[in-house]
Amino acid sequence: MSLSLIYDLETAVAQREGCALCWLERRQVSRYLEGVSNDGVNNIPLRIRLAKKGGYCSEHSQQFAEIAHALSSAILLESFLKQKLENAEKGRRPLQISCEACEIKADNRKSFAQSLQRSNKKPEIQALLLKARLCATHLQIASHRAPPLFAAQLTAEHDELMHNLSEFVRKYDYRVAGKELHTEEEKQSIKRALALLKETAS
Ligand SMILES: [Zn+2]
Ligand SMILES: [Zn+2]
Repeated sequence: MSLSLIYDLETAVAQREGCALCWLERRQVSRYLEGVSNDGVNNIPLRIRLAKKGGYCSEHSQQFAEIAHALSSAILLESFLKQKLENAEKGRRPLQISCEACEIKADNRKSFAQSLQRSNKKPEIQALLLKARLCATHLQIASHRAPPLFAAQLTAEHDELMHNLSEFVRKYDYRVAGKELHTEEEKQSIKRALALLKETAS
């Protein structure tokens, strides 16, 4: 079993910042963006390559600006925007963004999915995943080809939320409306569903 998988999961669970697998993906993207910010900005071929791909998506442009020195951000954002504005000025077809940070994230997600599939029968990994507060996307990745009992355990954490959502809907039924009031948990269920659907660290 991969010791680094255990170490990574332990580190992410200890952060207690939303979904542990989202946190790990975000860390990987941050490392890449830090690399670009440290030496890539003066690297003209890299800047040209990134600009050719249409720059970063808005989310990763934002993440870059949070990580990088203001000067690096200004240089990179200028090169991304220049192309788009020139394009607009000449009435050309909009540039398609092929964000390199999104590619890093997708590669990372794929390799995590593979190592989880190899390890999700191990009790140590299962125990960590049960503490990982996974978002709905990573819940599916962690459960893929997992033992049915473990997959059921992972999803059972959300039984109460699913019950509250269905009660919320049921009490809108005309036969019930006005007779049964929504509980506080039921009122919160939409917010909680959105939180579960959200990938906390893209
Ligand atoms: Zn996640
Ligand atoms: Zn992106």
